[in-house]
Formats: sequence, structure tokens, C-alpha cells
Amino acid sequence: MWGLRLGDDIDDFCIKCKRVTNHSVLAIVDDAPAKVRCRTCYHEQEFRDSIAPPTKRELKKAAEAEAAAAAAADAESGLDPEIEASAAGNGDADEPIAAEAPPSSKPAAKKPARKR
Ligand SMILES: [Zn+2]
Repeated sequence: MWGLRLGDDIDDFCIKCKRVTNHSVLAIVDDAPAKVRCRTCYHEQEFRDSIAPPTKRELKKAAEAEAAAAAAADAESGLDPEIEASAAGNGDADEPIAAEAPPSSKPAAKKPARKR
């Protein structure tokens, strides 16, 4: 698929130059470049397909995003008990409403008392 030969030029991210530079193919595994040498600084490295390694800032961002995702997951999982609790609260709410009915009969009882 690569059609590469040893010594061919290939673009890759050089961790020394910290940018994509021309590289020479040093090793080929399964018809894909395995090891390359930067033509700018001659640093040998494993072929990374021009994918830059994550910087410390990116690693920190990824860690923060992961923590935020974990916190969001915790919040979502925490909603379920609340929903169940509110559903249980609605069931309890029926009792106070039923309890209000008897007091409403008391004013009715007072009316005859006013008539006297
Ligand atoms: Zn380099």
C-alpha cells in the first residue's frame, strides 16, 4: 500500500524538530515504514505517520477532559436516585392531600355554628 523502499523520502513528525519534516525510510515492516530518519536533524525515530506526540499541555487538557467526563458521568448516574426519590415523594404527597380533605369539612361544621 505504501510502495516504499528503504531510503525513500517520507513526511513525518520529527520529535526533535517538533514539526513535520522530510524523513528517510530506514526500516520497512509489512510494507509500511517502521523507522525513519529526519533529514533535517538526522534523528532516528519510529515512523509515526506525521502524528505529533501529545504535548504536556495537551496531556493536561486530556486529563482535565477525562476528569470532566468522569464527573459528568457521576452526575448522570447521580440523577437516577433523585428521580426515584422524587417519584417516591409524589407517592408521599398523596397522603398530605388526603389529609387536607378532613379539615375542609371543619369550616362546613362551623357554618351551622355561625347560624346559631
Ligand atoms: Zn528533525
